[in-house]
Amino acid sequence: MANPCQLVWQYRLSISLTAATLGFIASLSVSVARSVNPKLAIPSPNLNQQERSTSQSLQIKGLLGEEQDIYEKMLVHLAEEEAKRLTFSVPVEFQGKTIHSRVLKDNAKVIALTFDDGPSSQTTPQVLDILKRENVKATFFVVGKTVKTHPQLMKQIVAEGHAIGNHTWNHHYHQYSPSAAAHELETTATLIHQLTGVKTALFRPPAGILNNGLVSYAHQKKYAVIMWSADTKDWQSHRITVPKLIDNALEDVQPGGIILLHDGGGDRSKTVQALPKLITELKQRGYQFVTVSELLDIPD
Ligand SMILES: [Zn+2]
Repeated sequence: MANPCQLVWQYRLSISLTAATLGFIASLSVSVARSVNPKLAIPSPNLNQQERSTSQSLQIKGLLGEEQDIYEKMLVHLAEEEAKRLTFSVPVEFQGKTIHSRVLKDNAKVIALTFDDGPSSQTTPQVLDILKRENVKATFFVVGKTVKTHPQLMKQIVAEGHAIGNHTWNHHYHQYSPSAAAHELETTATLIHQLTGVKTALFRPPAGILNNGLVSYAHQKKYAVIMWSADTKDWQSHRITVPKLIDNALEDVQPGGIILLHDGGGDRSKTVQALPKLITELKQRGYQFVTVSELLDIPD
């Protein structure tokens, strides 16, 4: 059997090939549009120079408009494809379950970085830059009311291929009635879907509280409730040092593990400082990075 890392790689390759094919189809469509649309025909040789020039100018404008239209349609299609990829179905064995890590056959060295409480204009762009530079895909557990104030960042996270999880609308810690829990999850899920096309089946309760009504609702709705196996404790903000944050992650690192980080909810400058070194150290230890969706979807 192919190892899980190969499968993830093959999966990403197939998405790239789809994108390339769509690009080819779009360019072919432009050629076809040119050949069948009379507005785009070559100007008549009987026209004088000025008429020809005016005619060409109009045709170029028309052509650009048409190409732009096709290009925009292609982008919408690619975004839909990306959304489909990110909108994976949680395998049945994980639906309605709480997961801290996943033990894979042969202890395959894959790891998932997760970022909670964003998007934040202070931290999320820096985190996205680092992840892009390091070619790492992560999972963002976003807070609904924060998504509402940063819709572009939300779209950017998805456009850059990261997975999305639901982290409630308000990020409160109190007890929830079933209807209040439903409101917290559903309003967030609806906004994520409206903005990005992603329907997420991942949920993480604020502060990891498992017994205040949120998780029971999530289980009932067949969400996979995603906890973590390594806590960097970056939520301690001012009290934690960058080396300690990295040590916290590495102390508990394990194949199939999930690492807890934050890109919102306070001053996360230590997280930003620690992230490149943490990624480098994990790569040196032989880990490959996967999203939580990929972690759950790797065949065992
Ligand atoms: Zn949180």
